Amino acid sequence: MDHTYRNLFSHFGRFFRPYRGRLIAGTAVRIIAALLWMYTTYAIASLVTFVAKYHPGDSLMPVYHIFGFWLAAMLIRYTCIFYSKRFCIIAGEELALDVEEGAVNHLALLDIAWHERENAGSKVKRIQRGADGLSTYTRVWVVNIIDIAVNFIGTFIIISHFDLMLAILIVLYEITYFILTTYFKKRTVAVSKEKNIKDEEVTGLMYEVVNNVRSVKVLGMSLPLIGRIKELNAELACLIRENQFWYHMGMYARTSWEAVARIAFLAFVVWGILHGRYELGFLILFNGYFQNLTSSINDLSSVAQDIALAKTSVGRLADIFSEPIVIDDEKGKADFPKDWKSVEVRNLSFSYGHGEVLSGIKLRVQKGEKVGIVGLSGAGKSTLFKLLLKEYESGTDDILIGDMPLRHIKKSEYVRHVAAVLQDTEVFNMTLRKNVELANSAVADAEAAMGSDDAFQKAIDISHVRDFLHKLPAGVESLIGEKGVKLSGGERQRLGIARAVYKNPEILFLDEATSHLDVESEQKIQDSLAHFFKDVTAVVIAHRLSTIKEMDRIVVMEGGKIIEDGTFESLHASGGRFREFWDKQRL
Ligand code: ADP
Repeated sequence: MDHTYRNLFSHFGRFFRPYRGRLIAGTAVRIIAALLWMYTTYAIASLVTFVAKYHPGDSLMPVYHIFGFWLAAMLIRYTCIFYSKRFCIIAGEELALDVEEGAVNHLALLDIAWHERENAGSKVKRIQRGADGLSTYTRVWVVNIIDIAVNFIGTFIIISHFDLMLAILIVLYEITYFILTTYFKKRTVAVSKEKNIKDEEVTGLMYEVVNNVRSVKVLGMSLPLIGRIKELNAELACLIRENQFWYHMGMYARTSWEAVARIAFLAFVVWGILHGRYELGFLILFNGYFQNLTSSINDLSSVAQDIALAKTSVGRLADIFSEPIVIDDEKGKADFPKDWKSVEVRNLSFSYGHGEVLSGIKLRVQKGEKVGIVGLSGAGKSTLFKLLLKEYESGTDDILIGDMPLRHIKKSEYVRHVAAVLQDTEVFNMTLRKNVELANSAVADAEAAMGSDDAFQKAIDISHVRDFLHKLPAGVESLIGEKGVKLSGGERQRLGIARAVYKNPEILFLDEATSHLDVESEQKIQDSLAHFFKDVTAVVIAHRLSTIKEMDRIVVMEGGKIIEDGTFESLHASGGRFREFWDKQRL
């Protein structure tokens, strides 16, 4: 998408819509405030002219009128400013919150393939910066732009009333000033863009170092990682210096040009007064408006920087919003089929972009059947899971739930009917109970399910989460996650299983779900799971072969293909690859 203002505003238009009323009202009162400010200079000039022509005994009525009107104008002006800020700035902040929420929602719908390309730190920073950019627009609009516009137009009208030629010269001055400003602004913004990208890269890496601090320490990775941060920071410092150089050069050029123009204009006006062309008050009037204009132009040049910087951030956020939602797009897709009899993988091949990771996979899992998948690391087991979980799609109808191709089923519907326990169970900064209850993805159901304590109690029993509750300060109401109690790998896995049980799915996917547990705990959980999931269809990846011994069938994967498929007994008896793995693990 082209990051023109027009594109950006039409892109984010839907976020501005709910605040339209407040923004228009704020704009209207701000215009009134700016017009009233223009009266100040006019009042002073009128007073000077009056005093210059005053003769003792003349009526002082005009002076009283000027002061009275001036006072009223200022009081009304400050009331208008108060309300304009109240309307527009608060609307801008609320709008930014809406945008952040919308962006996170959009992120959650984007394909995993996109997420794997971007690191989490920079995604969050992009969203925050973009949302801040949009609130900057509303702030700058109400605080600066309206004032500047009224000043420009008003000054031209008033000066041209006295001397059209002078008014035209002022416009020329404004134009040259803008050319100068724009040139330096462009250079500054170009460097700023690079600086922001570099900054995101550094923050992203820092975020990863902090997040993965255990691996960093244990595996001694801190030296190369800190080295990389140093390198990136050095590049960042270079860009900061360049950015500052152009910013200050711009400032210097602008202020010099302004000083030259101001002296020339005032000399011209003084010459006009001496030759009887203007009254004395005009010097005050011209100087006052020129002063206003100058501060408006200065204001404009500094907000132009803010606007341009905000444009970069808003543009980068718009890019996130323009990323198409593919798999999670529900348009024209069907509900989860009610009367499915099997999950079928039909000649499935898949590549992440270079070289096939899966080729010609054929697998049928009957409803209620339990199938184990084994194979060496890199065989393609997790990739097959990602496709079965609708995280990735191959683009053809190669996975079917009953007769319905999986890619034609709504993602939100699908995840309501299936549950997955992944290798790593991610924990949120909430209570243990909330962490389990979150699993019920349909919000309305979740609300209802929240009340159902039975389902929750059952989930923590079957997953044996109950076994470690006594270690937590407030039982199931204990805060866990980053800011709360840290759970061990095995405890997190039990929590993951509790989520799956709580969901009561039709199909269950377990990817090394009990790998962090000792054999004894695993056996306990296996037994209770087997009972609870008696009628559930399950596909289970396990490295520890005893985990899948009781499955109805086992498939063996190697090099992206299924090389063996049968019951434990038949595979064991056939003396093939599975037997080889089994014998090795028995040693
Ligand atoms: P397994 O689960 O059996 O260990 P995976 O499905 O994780 O196997 O990996 C199969 C192959 O696909 C490996 O060669 C791995 O490097 C590659 N792979 C896995 N995920 C990605 C990805 N997101 N992008 C590119 N290649 C990937």
